Amino acid sequence: MIDTHSHIDGPEFADDLDETIQRAKDEGVKCIFIPGICLKDTPHIFELCKKYEGYLYPMIGLHPENIMDEDYHYVLDEMEKMLKNMLADESCTTKPIAVGEVGIDLYWDDTHKTEQIEVFEKQIIWAEKYDLPLMIHSRNAHKELMEVMERHRASNLKGVFHCFSGTAEEAKDLLSFPGFMLGIGGVCTFKKSTLPEVLKECIPMDRIVLETDSPYLAPVPNRGKRNESAFLTHIVDKLSQVYGIEKPVLMLQTEENVVKVFSKCSFFNKK
Ligand SMILES: [Zn+2]
Repeated sequence: MIDTHSHIDGPEFADDLDETIQRAKDEGVKCIFIPGICLKDTPHIFELCKKYEGYLYPMIGLHPENIMDEDYHYVLDEMEKMLKNMLADESCTTKPIAVGEVGIDLYWDDTHKTEQIEVFEKQIIWAEKYDLPLMIHSRNAHKELMEVMERHRASNLKGVFHCFSGTAEEAKDLLSFPGFMLGIGGVCTFKKSTLPEVLKECIPMDRIVLETDSPYLAPVPNRGKRNESAFLTHIVDKLSQVYGIEKPVLMLQTEENVVKVFSKCSFFNKK
């Protein structure tokens, strides 16, 4: 099992990070990917990935909810410099494995829709330029997301549409980008979720990756608590029921899917 999306760098884990990582290892989580969301948290992510080298892997990106925190032109320039330098540095052992998390979020309001799209698209261009996958966040923005993605269809991007919980129609749209997987997390265990039906109906098992999005969205039976990578087992339990297959098969398949997208992640190159 691989947790492709955990904010384990957050303050929620400051007091028991070692234990959290140990619990994940004990449950069979092989590695954890950490999305970047803003400039100020980025150095800490790289410090952690250095400290837990070979287990935690960093991404770099500006989250749509953080674009107005600071001058985003400045932030993007700084982030791109870091990205470029680390990728070029032979001695760097914590190279970013993806651009993310980036995207569009119109859940609260659409005041900064234009800016969100501009920032998203600039970071898609990094993915193209540096040949990295994208970790994409989209909330209440399917139409806008599709419009942006269509403009880049020809560049055969790879990535994950993280925290997918949409309709069958939306899944079909997203899966029309062959280099992308849908990130499936705790939502599929929620009682009223329609995600299990959508998964069964129209999302093949070779198009999903596992994620927690911790500390958010803890799966049942831990719903409402702080989420953590060890809880991936509950997501695997649910998905193996949904697809009607043995858990080891599902775990292996989702790992293969991760390799397809994150082929540059040194974890896979070591083997
Ligand atoms: Zn996230």
